[in-house]
Amino acid sequence: MHDVIIIGAGPAGLTAALWCEELGLDTLVLERADRPGGQLLQVYNAINNYPGLIAVDGPEFYERAFSSRIEESEFDLWTGVEIDSVKLKAKRISLRSGEQLQAIALVIGSGVSRRRLGIPGEAEFSGKGIIESATRDRELFSGEDVCVIGGGDAAAENALLLAEVCPTVTLVHRGKKLSARQEFRERLQANHCLTIFTESVVTRILGNQRVEAVEIARKEGLKPFQVAVRGVLIRIGVDPNTPLFRDQVPLDSKGYVVVNSIHETEISNVFAIGDVSNPIGPTISGACGAGATVAKAIASRISHLK
Ligand SMILES: Cc1cc2nc3c(=O)[nH]c(=O)nc-3n(C[C@H](O)[C@H](O)[C@H](O)COP(=O)(O)OP(=O)(O)OC[C@H]3O[C@@H](n4cnc5c(N)ncnc54)[C@H](O)[C@@H]3O)c2cc1C
Repeated sequence: MHDVIIIGAGPAGLTAALWCEELGLDTLVLERADRPGGQLLQVYNAINNYPGLIAVDGPEFYERAFSSRIEESEFDLWTGVEIDSVKLKAKRISLRSGEQLQAIALVIGSGVSRRRLGIPGEAEFSGKGIIESATRDRELFSGEDVCVIGGGDAAAENALLLAEVCPTVTLVHRGKKLSARQEFRERLQANHCLTIFTESVVTRILGNQRVEAVEIARKEGLKPFQVAVRGVLIRIGVDPNTPLFRDQVPLDSKGYVVVNSIHETEISNVFAIGDVSNPIGPTISGACGAGATVAKAIASRISHLK
């Protein structure tokens, strides 16, 4: 029996764990990836909006903000863990390995994952023309024609970065209008390398050894057509990592966990922190703040119980 089990070792879960340790709670963190850090490990842009710390990218941020603190800390952090099922009311977790875990309080800090299109070619061409990040990979695609799928800020930002080095960028968005902020929309419209297809979807990514083209279908049911490209970048939003908790705790219409002001769910002593419960303004500072808040709330509950 642990005092606290935290699911997810992103900024939210790690901050909660550090605070729980400081408050004398027996804490276990379960992380499904092989390394802690969460989305920080996929951030290739500079992070200059966290108070007191500027880093060239997410991995450097992780190193400076968390790495040494975690090595020195005494809470248990299990990585590469596969959770089979969670019973939130009972605060019981079964792992794929067969192990059964129990805690007084559970904290869900499982974050969000990039949404996939699920179309042919998407998985097959991973590392063979699927671009993970324009910041990181654009030099590799310099001089090549590319396609960006999505219409929000992330898609627009990546398209503009690619347009600096690529002769053509084809932007495909299924909505009527791009949802990216005004500044990005204006820059996209003014950029002669860019062709924007709205109310359109990419139905297939084609190629032999690597990406060679995308197939685009206009929404009105016109005949699909192909555009030759060597790279495809997909930014169509994120989904909260909540399938394990569905039907046990209230989720909003997009699957985010609903919490109160101390990040507690409808179930007593079950909390959710960071992006998994923050559809509006997901940030590192918000995730860390939520982690600190729940640790204090749990410590005060547990001191009453003991
Ligand atoms: C490209 C990019 C740039 C960004 N730039 C900034 C920025 O400049 N400033 C800023 O403030 N924020 C930025 N962010 C957002 C920031 O990274 C997130 O808000 C923050 O990482 C959220 O932390 P979290 O701990 O809630 O979730 P996450 O970082 O998503 O961590 C969740 C963890 O839970 C684990 N997990 C999920 N499901 C399970 C499970 N079933 N079992 C065990 N573990 C599980 C995941 O593997 C992951 O490690 C950026 C994000 C991206 C993708």
